[in-house]
Amino acid sequence: MIIAIDGPAASGKGTLAKRLANHFGFHCLDTGLLYRAVARDVARNGFRLEDAWAAVAAARNLDPRELEDADLRGNAAGDAASIVARIPEVRAALLAYQRNFARRPPGAVLDGRDIATVVCPDANVKIFVTASPEVRASRRFAEFEARGSAVAYETVLEDILARDARDSGRASAPMMLAEDAELLDTSNLSIEAAFDAAVGLIKRKISH
Ligand code: C5P
Repeated sequence: MIIAIDGPAASGKGTLAKRLANHFGFHCLDTGLLYRAVARDVARNGFRLEDAWAAVAAARNLDPRELEDADLRGNAAGDAASIVARIPEVRAALLAYQRNFARRPPGAVLDGRDIATVVCPDANVKIFVTASPEVRASRRFAEFEARGSAVAYETVLEDILARDARDSGRASAPMMLAEDAELLDTSNLSIEAAFDAAVGLIKRKISH
């Protein structure tokens, strides 16, 4: 059983994926962490993020056990990830790990940008989680405020729009709504309500 969750930055897809995996007793893979770790390793090895050769080498040598790094969770790591994620050979190098993970019994939830379209086109359930850029920026802004970082809301919104443009506009595996995916707009939903809606979608889908 494979549940594919795609969506833009700060849509709530990561939280949703973890809660769904918990609920159904499935494994969970945040695939964004793979790209974040590749970007970290490129920088750690002293190369520029735009250096395709260095990024491909980092992706091929990635140790998926090294994804627990707290620095990987930050905004800068996400932006850096979206630069290496444009390189087709980087994406190709990360594919086998993701596909093997997806096959773990009794099931897996994977979240990212291309899970339903490229990584697991045969997923049993595909959900595209989204929210308006303004709502996503407000959520990020609230997280920053809670951590005491002084960032202007406008800057957060600009970053979100720039990341969306990079992820949707790239040639290789761009972020998009798969034809057979269910759209879940969380703009006006609490985490709880989004979770209930997703469980409802999944139950309907697997009962058919
Ligand atoms: O989901 P997260 O914000 O952690 O992803 C960071 C970046 O990694 C995204 O902006 C995107 O460029 C890239 N990514 C991707 N494909 C995925 C997951 C993430 O291209 N499946």
